[in-house]
Amino acid sequence: MTGSLISFEQAEGTVLSTVQVGPIHSVPLRAALGHVLAEPIACDVDQPPFDRAMMDGYALRAADVATAPCTLIVVGEAAAGGGYDQSLRPGESIQINTGAPVPKGCDCVVPVEQTQRTGSEVLVQSVPKQGQHIGLRAAYAKAGMIVLEEGCQLGPGQIAVAASAGVSSVPVYRRPTVAILATGSELVEPSCKPTGSQIRDSNRYVLDALVRQAGCRPVDLGTVRDDRDQLCERIRQGLGCDFLCISGGVSMGQYDYVPGVLKACGVDIKFHKVAIKPGKPVLFGAAKEAGYAFGLPGNPVSVFVTFWILVRPALMAFQGAAAKRPRFVSAQLTGAVKATGDRQTYQPAYVRADDEGRLEVEPLVWHGSGNPLALAQANALIVANSNAPAGEVGDSVFVVLLDLP
Ligand code: AMP
Ligand code: MG
Repeated sequence: MTGSLISFEQAEGTVLSTVQVGPIHSVPLRAALGHVLAEPIACDVDQPPFDRAMMDGYALRAADVATAPCTLIVVGEAAAGGGYDQSLRPGESIQINTGAPVPKGCDCVVPVEQTQRTGSEVLVQSVPKQGQHIGLRAAYAKAGMIVLEEGCQLGPGQIAVAASAGVSSVPVYRRPTVAILATGSELVEPSCKPTGSQIRDSNRYVLDALVRQAGCRPVDLGTVRDDRDQLCERIRQGLGCDFLCISGGVSMGQYDYVPGVLKACGVDIKFHKVAIKPGKPVLFGAAKEAGYAFGLPGNPVSVFVTFWILVRPALMAFQGAAAKRPRFVSAQLTGAVKATGDRQTYQPAYVRADDEGRLEVEPLVWHGSGNPLALAQANALIVANSNAPAGEVGDSVFVVLLDLP
């Protein structure tokens, strides 16, 4: 029984409706990679701005070459960045380069490979079609047309479009700061060899990397013992950031102080416990003045999964991104998966294309959410709904693609 647990869809809906879009600022185009556009961008000129040659060759009138081969006089040349300012007369042609304006009177370009030049004459060896190899003015976009929508995330392609639209700095949503705090009296730094009941802290490091990969700024708050007062002090500090991600201390154990301390620090808990596996005890809340808090269960795979499916969408929502959810695809299983219980289940997996380019997914062996080793191979998560039957080799399953190096 899921009892009072909310579904993943409810949890995601709550996160996305609670997180408000952050402030806007302007960044130079060179620094804009990964940012989300806060206003639409329109181009200020026609694209292309003039009729231009798309090949190196000869600009001419198609009607002059009704049959091939056919000889025309070469009366001038047009280079990129220059041009030929007179109008072409019948029987004439202009030597032209890719990117040069097509001279008046010309209605096609014959590629140089289909010609033979002798002195001031050119032998045209193929019959051209009207308009061939000419990029017409405004064929791509008219001046004033919106070429990038608000909410789009700027990748290299979008940056090329912004540059061609005449933009040198772009209005974007500020990327959030994310405070990271690991809780647990058992935790030691990776540089320490654990003794007795100690465990190396890996969550602060995986969260740091995940936050950076999402383009946001991590603020390391270190580790804190399972001590209410210390936790309270560190949480207050973390709430100064846009987001606070706490690992551990969020379950039902006697020393799991995180929910209570968050409440005491003025955080309005929006949900605590979701019907997902791993990650059931996950918590989300909003601080009174500013800032949002996530409490992530301490097991490394739980941290990884809950970050991808709940924290990352929140970071994208703060940045006003139109696409907030991770990417889902369907892929064929190359290994069996177990039937699920009463929770939606996320299993670390490896997606690749088969010989025909179809996606296949290999479920990775993992021994529960405490084992971080499966994360070293995972580039995806297989998603199975609650009470789903076992999956066989060849079955199609839903997969979350993780944008990992
Ligand atoms: P908790 O959510 O605090 O009950 O922790 C669940 C499990 O995750 C326990 O076995 C913890 O020792 C382990 N754990 C908690 N925090 C970390 C961490 N930062 N790095 C690695 N393991 C952790
Ligand atoms: Mg703990």
